[in-house]
Amino acid sequence: MTEFDVLILGGGSGGYACALRASQLGLNVALIEQDKLGGTCLHRGCIPTKALLHAGEVADSTRHAAEFGVNAQLNGIDMNAVNSYKDGVISKLHKGLQGLVKSRNVTYIEGHGRLVAPNAIEVNGVRYTGKNIVLATGSYPRTLPGLEIDGNRIITSDQALNMNYIPNTAIVLGGGVIGCEFASVWKSFGADVTIVEGLPRLVALEDESSSKQLERAFRKRGIKFEVGTRFQSATTSESGVTVTLENGTQFTADVLLVAVGRGPVTDNIGYQEQGLTMDRGYLIVDDKCRTNLPGVFAVGDIIPTLQLAHVGFAEGILVAEEIAGQNPRPINYDGVPRVTYSDPEVASVGLTTAVAKERGHDVVELNYDLAGNGKANILKTAGSVKLVAEKNGPVLGIHMVGARVGELLAEAQLIFNWEAEASDVAQLIHAHPTLSEAVGEAHLALAGKPLHAHG
Ligand SMILES: Cc1cc2nc3c(=O)[nH]c(=O)nc-3n(C[C@H](O)[C@H](O)[C@H](O)COP(=O)(O)OP(=O)(O)OC[C@H]3O[C@@H](n4cnc5c(N)ncnc54)[C@H](O)[C@@H]3O)c2cc1C
Repeated sequence: MTEFDVLILGGGSGGYACALRASQLGLNVALIEQDKLGGTCLHRGCIPTKALLHAGEVADSTRHAAEFGVNAQLNGIDMNAVNSYKDGVISKLHKGLQGLVKSRNVTYIEGHGRLVAPNAIEVNGVRYTGKNIVLATGSYPRTLPGLEIDGNRIITSDQALNMNYIPNTAIVLGGGVIGCEFASVWKSFGADVTIVEGLPRLVALEDESSSKQLERAFRKRGIKFEVGTRFQSATTSESGVTVTLENGTQFTADVLLVAVGRGPVTDNIGYQEQGLTMDRGYLIVDDKCRTNLPGVFAVGDIIPTLQLAHVGFAEGILVAEEIAGQNPRPINYDGVPRVTYSDPEVASVGLTTAVAKERGHDVVELNYDLAGNGKANILKTAGSVKLVAEKNGPVLGIHMVGARVGELLAEAQLIFNWEAEASDVAQLIHAHPTLSEAVGEAHLALAGKPLHAHG
């Protein structure tokens, strides 16, 4: 069969979520993938990085075991064993996903696809048509002009995830999410790491207070960073790589990880030829992920929304429901939870103070220090829960730093997305002793009845 209700190009988070939901809604679906089902997130992104970060956490726990009265010694990191643990996680999830796609009767087409008409994609010389087409071809690691990735000394996250050794020294170009996660894991594995970031602070999209706390924690961990200075050049030699910044500062290391963002995969696959509207490589869509061509949708990293797997899932589901005539509500992108899984973690949802002010809100802020939280003391983690709220109104943003705070987003995103006020949350009882109490206590304090909070 070559005719479908929904024909999807790209089997990553956005594409496969769309396929699963569309088939659940009774549509006849085909999914085209040239590499591995699961895409970047499963094979080169979220899952492998978090497995490495967990191995790093185990190493740090061992290193610091004596602080908890436990006698243990870190005898080294066996990268081959770390990689086989990581690959085992990927492989299990990959098999599960393959089974899921099959069980939902999605037709899986292997091969490189090309959009040859607004309703047709060609794969291996066969023309498939769809009443609806969903483009979900994802993204690739970007580099800077003149900075060539050689895969050895100068690498991207793709290579960094499969190294069979730990560099003694590493330079990470880019202090965003991916850069900070790799810096964190390499430091946990014993490397000497320097981050170079052109913007004035690490994780610059986060609230300024979160950046400050992450920088303080990284400094304490011995992760070096140079912010506010732009990269100029890099040269490699037998023994390493030297990076020169525009202010003349030089760093030399075993490897340079280029983590300066990801570009959309939209070239040479027929998008331009079919007349899709694009801006700097991204496909332009409306709030239902519709492109300018009727019946053609785009989701995930190829559209200029947050490049996150759960955003891809949500957009894929939205499109499937739109095609099935369910008229779903557009996504509120402010309400998307965001996590940097470094040690410590940085997690947020909603608006930063700066953005809230830019949008004209009458802002009040509250900072609850984790020093007042029992579980944080047990874990020996530092950080805070910061609330940004409308004066006498709803919570506009929640910004957290500390070990495991990513898990606290489950509640934080409900608070934001249900437009709760501090007094609504203050009524909720949080289990003691948990980190979630810090979320409760921050709202208690903002509602004017602080419990374990000074000042
Ligand atoms: C190191 C790293 C860590 C990350 N960590 C996280 C995280 O912790 N949490 C999070 O939410 N996000 C994370 N992300 C981002 C997340 O991986 C992406 O946002 C997500 O994978 C995007 O999904 P997608 O479907 O748009 O694209 P992709 O997952 O890139 O999938 C696109 C698929 O399309 C296929 N394809 C492309 N062109 C064609 C063609 N012409 N024919 C056939 N197939 C084609 C590709 O092979 C690929 O499988 C991370 C990314 C990286 C790189």
